Amino acid sequence: MRLDKFVCKSTEHTKAQATELIHDGQLRVNGEEISNEAAQVHENNTITLNGELLKARPFRYLLMHKPLGTICSNVDEGYPSLFNSLEIDKVSELHVAGRLDVDTTGLVLITDDGRWTYDIITPSKNCQKVYRIGLSRDLSKGLIDKFKEGLQLQGESQLTLPADLQVLSQKEARLTITEGKYHQVKRMFTAIGNRVTSLHREKIGEIPLNIPLDQWRYLTNDEVKSFA
Ligand code: URA
Repeated sequence: MRLDKFVCKSTEHTKAQATELIHDGQLRVNGEEISNEAAQVHENNTITLNGELLKARPFRYLLMHKPLGTICSNVDEGYPSLFNSLEIDKVSELHVAGRLDVDTTGLVLITDDGRWTYDIITPSKNCQKVYRIGLSRDLSKGLIDKFKEGLQLQGESQLTLPADLQVLSQKEARLTITEGKYHQVKRMFTAIGNRVTSLHREKIGEIPLNIPLDQWRYLTNDEVKSFA
């Protein structure tokens, strides 16, 4: 990771303060003074601030039950952010591993471990995301095969990866996908002439949503490792 990020992860300093300390020549990596905040460092390196050894805090992994009307971003986009309800340190270092739209509810995973996120959101890693969907029109016949074969989304050059559609009632379905293109589920139903009226994520990988609306908890070690 970048040296300024490492300083933030191992001290109470903000990014701006970390940059200042680095420019001031107060950081050494394996004994060598480093004044470039973008220098890449590894946790195994010996990194000192004014001679004091720094140790990065362990990564954090959280599960949240996202309510309607919140956004998964730290940036103010005119809606409250789900990060507002996290009363923990250094919330700005966290990100969502697979964002949900403002009008989608359900399971959200939050972390500061970018490599872990990569395993969850990269389609070739095959991590399943399960959604429960309400629709404006009745589900027509033959859809299960169409979702399995792949759909042509507007503006995309390739078909969607095979998806598993379970019809729950005339206007309700459960869909399992392994990719997460922008508005993917809504666009998949648009592609077959229907419209999503409600969307709720029930599960990611082996982790089901098992906490009340607007609540969060830390993941267990086994849950964290289940994506490896
Ligand atoms: N697909 C969507 O269209 N929206 C979401 O929030 C998640 C998946």
